[in-house]
Amino acid sequence: MSADPSSSTSRTVAVIGAGPVGCLAAMAFAKRGWRVEIYEGRADLRLPESRANLALRSINLAISHRGIVALQAVNSAAADRFLADAIPMHGRMVHTTAGKEETIYYDRDHQHINSIDRAVLNQGLLDELFFRHKVQNIDFDGKKMTARDLETGRDVEAHFDLCIGADGSYSVVRRQMMRVMRMDFQQTYMKDEYMELRMPSGVGASGESTFLLHPNRLHIWPRHSFMLIALPNKDKTFTCTLFAPSTEFDKLDTVDKFLSWFEHHFPDAHRHIGADALAKDYSRNPRCPLICTTSNPYHYKDRAIILGDAAHAMVPFYGQGLNCGLEDVRVLSALLQAEGITSDKTSEDPTIVDPRLAHALAYYSEHRHEDLVAICDLAQNNYVEMRHDVTSPMFLFKKAVDNVLYMLSRRQRLSLASFGSALASVPFPAGEPSEWIPLYTMVTFRPDVSYATAQRKARRQARVLTVLGWLTASAVGAGSLLALVASYDRARRLLTR
Ligand code: FAD
Repeated sequence: MSADPSSSTSRTVAVIGAGPVGCLAAMAFAKRGWRVEIYEGRADLRLPESRANLALRSINLAISHRGIVALQAVNSAAADRFLADAIPMHGRMVHTTAGKEETIYYDRDHQHINSIDRAVLNQGLLDELFFRHKVQNIDFDGKKMTARDLETGRDVEAHFDLCIGADGSYSVVRRQMMRVMRMDFQQTYMKDEYMELRMPSGVGASGESTFLLHPNRLHIWPRHSFMLIALPNKDKTFTCTLFAPSTEFDKLDTVDKFLSWFEHHFPDAHRHIGADALAKDYSRNPRCPLICTTSNPYHYKDRAIILGDAAHAMVPFYGQGLNCGLEDVRVLSALLQAEGITSDKTSEDPTIVDPRLAHALAYYSEHRHEDLVAICDLAQNNYVEMRHDVTSPMFLFKKAVDNVLYMLSRRQRLSLASFGSALASVPFPAGEPSEWIPLYTMVTFRPDVSYATAQRKARRQARVLTVLGWLTASAVGAGSLLALVASYDRARRLLTR
């Protein structure tokens, strides 16, 4: 635990929460010369017992260009490590109840997202850092806080110049900030919940382990009001997540009911997982809630800011929650650089506010908000697309036209590496690409397009797609009518001959 940092000439940042966002924030500030202290309530993930605990609630994550670019901007070695561990997924593979499989590619150029085990992600970042204690309360005006040492049960005091709340959706830092400032905050529980299931690896012809499904796909079993998804793991297993309304889960109140329901709706997944493993997962794994939170503003004076899920928990249907949290860190770090804020202490007196740092944090709150609102919104809408729309012919038609227009209007192909260096010092990339780009591509593969810009542009493009859809439907309708009239006419002439 830190002594009063007033003796140091460098500013101290206290990062609360050693999830991926907290770890990346710690690295970003360390790189800028700040003294970094990170406080984490959980035990060190590198210890075998913590790994076992985490595996019980672990989910794997899809990391896309936004997250990778944020990692690259802060620590390119860490980004390389993730990519080495990741499994590329080039598209969604949709599984119908009849057992048909169809791939919808994410991008015409076969750009891909990456499946990575959450534990590997944290562990990779934690290689650079260390664990501390659970934060209890914070005196922002005195720039000090109390953390409980969970081993001894003793409370200890720590001092900071800047406190970063990266302590997840139930953030203590956020709650403490709300006591001293006017922060709008809203929390919504979704009517859906999720449960994790594990699909084992198979055995190949020569006894080697194999994937039971295509490894380079994000698998979806859309069933309109609920769905199952599966992401591949390095050990050739899949982590499956079942999303369904709480009322649907309530009906499955015995193992037998669950097994027969599962077999009815997901026969191929049932076969691959096996009834015994399914029964075990059903009894052991919790039903987890899905929450969505919005906050505004995200900072307090020159001394506190919340990032990641602490600031914006979203539903996981765009696979952007973490990507967005990592982008928060890139944006903040680039902003401090652009504003010329160094690690040098400006005052020993906690009552004196550093106006430049306060201005930078306020700028972050003001300019980041619309992007965070946009992605929370897009994530909600994507649930309907994943569990229902992907089965609709109109959706597939619009997607095909979207891709054709993208192909026709494309000017340049931007590489991941080119974003990394370009965005390291640009907090808020301005402007909107002039070419046609599908929404998913903008959100996932174009970190130079902000979430809000992507949403605005996609709304306009969607209107064009709808018109094209109607025109095509009308043309097909008119064509069929003409054919009908022609055949009626032919038949009439034959009969009157
Ligand atoms: P967290 O990962 O929640 O970390 C917070 C840390 O703070 C924890 O380690 C916690 O122990 C610690 N902490 C909490 N309170 C205290 C305290 N008082 N003192 C000290 N430490 C404390 N995102 C994606 O980008 N792609 C995906 O594919 C994806 N899939 C998802 C699937 C599901 C089912 C869910 C629920 C989420 C998914 N997400 C995904 C979202 C992603 O998991 C989160 O956005 C991400 O984990 C947020 O990281 P974080 O570091 O902000 O918070």
